[in-house]
Amino acid sequence: MSSPVWHPFTQHGLEEPIPRIARAEGAILYTVDGRRIIDAISSWWVTTHGHCHPRITKAIAEQAQILDQVIFAGWSHEPAEQVAAGLREIMPAALTRVFFSDSGSTSVEVALKMALGFWTARKEPRHRIIVMEHSYHGDTIGAMSVGERGVFNQTYEPLLFDVARIPFPHAGREQDTFDALDRACADQACALIVEPLVLGAGGMLIYSARALQEMHKICAHHGVIFIADEVMTGWGRTGSLLACEQAGVEPDILCLSKGLTGGSLPLAVTMAREPLFEAHYSQDRARMFFHSSSYTANPIACAAACANLAIWREEPVLEGIGDLTARQERHLATLAETAPILNERTLGAITAFEVGDGEGYLSDLAPRLMAAFREQGVLLRPLGNTIYVMPPYCILDQDLRRIYEVVGEAIQSLSRELQ
Ligand SMILES: *Cc1c(COP(=O)(O)O)cnc(C)c1O
Repeated sequence: MSSPVWHPFTQHGLEEPIPRIARAEGAILYTVDGRRIIDAISSWWVTTHGHCHPRITKAIAEQAQILDQVIFAGWSHEPAEQVAAGLREIMPAALTRVFFSDSGSTSVEVALKMALGFWTARKEPRHRIIVMEHSYHGDTIGAMSVGERGVFNQTYEPLLFDVARIPFPHAGREQDTFDALDRACADQACALIVEPLVLGAGGMLIYSARALQEMHKICAHHGVIFIADEVMTGWGRTGSLLACEQAGVEPDILCLSKGLTGGSLPLAVTMAREPLFEAHYSQDRARMFFHSSSYTANPIACAAACANLAIWREEPVLEGIGDLTARQERHLATLAETAPILNERTLGAITAFEVGDGEGYLSDLAPRLMAAFREQGVLLRPLGNTIYVMPPYCILDQDLRRIYEVVGEAIQSLSRELQ
């Protein structure tokens, strides 16, 4: 009998093979039948230091024997307190409050609810959220509402709420973005939510730190809450701990997940400036922040996050990422000499480029490339005709080189086929 598992973002009707992974170490996955697969996308952008990092797995094992789970509404525990204190040390100083949840999408829902709660407490009717075109903030209804509309969420369109949209700040055309943001802010806006420097799922679209800085300035001028969704960009992915740092921006609300536990267990936080907390602070129970999930601040996940924070404190993580950036740039340059790739770009641990002129996400280029990569032992998942490489920071150079070789071979054999 076939497996009863219904996979995410998978068309079961195409009956593509679904490899089973038995174990993982560093940047390598091993299938149940012993094949070695290079994880070139950090298992969908979560794995930072590498799979099964000894410090993180040890922390998980130890915590699991002490306290597995406890209600977090009105109760607390050491691992959560330590994560919050650790975040306060390394995240922007203005972000004084730490609210836990369990995924990037929920951290975004929480951010939107905090922002709305802020204006409600002020008795100002501001509820419009400003979003950037091509953005992605998750797959729950609220997160989809503030993300790009397309084939992913067309079915759910009737349930999605209205937002104000501003154009992506393409190099040389940033002023259009600033003008649109200025207009949207003036129209009773509640908040802007944005992925700093890189729009991930939108196609690894990179924009300038100056544009991010200017957008922040415009929001501040209008008193519009600036929400930085660093679920993907956080934890070094863009070359600094946060992408916002490169623009000297301290957001009002910050969403973190994916790399928060080094990519080992689901956990998220929404960090907020004091006025957002104060807006919900009173002697009136009807004004508390009404949000929780069963596993909020799960102690085992928090222990993993503590270990991740310790790694950031004690090990030269950023130096490693700097080295990875240089290595990726070299391999990308070599690839560009041999294969017809377009718009090569790099930021921190991310490289991306286009092949051909694919027609959106469902162009059949992506699945064909993906199958070719899989056969060659490389896990990559192109976004339409955009190929990106985003490996764990610990990847060995021989494995990194192999990724670019396999990409080059797949593109060349595909272009021969198309001739
Ligand atoms: C992945 C992602 C999310 C959603 O996170 P999940 O943990 O998958 O819910 C939100 N925002 C950004 C920018 C992301 O990349």
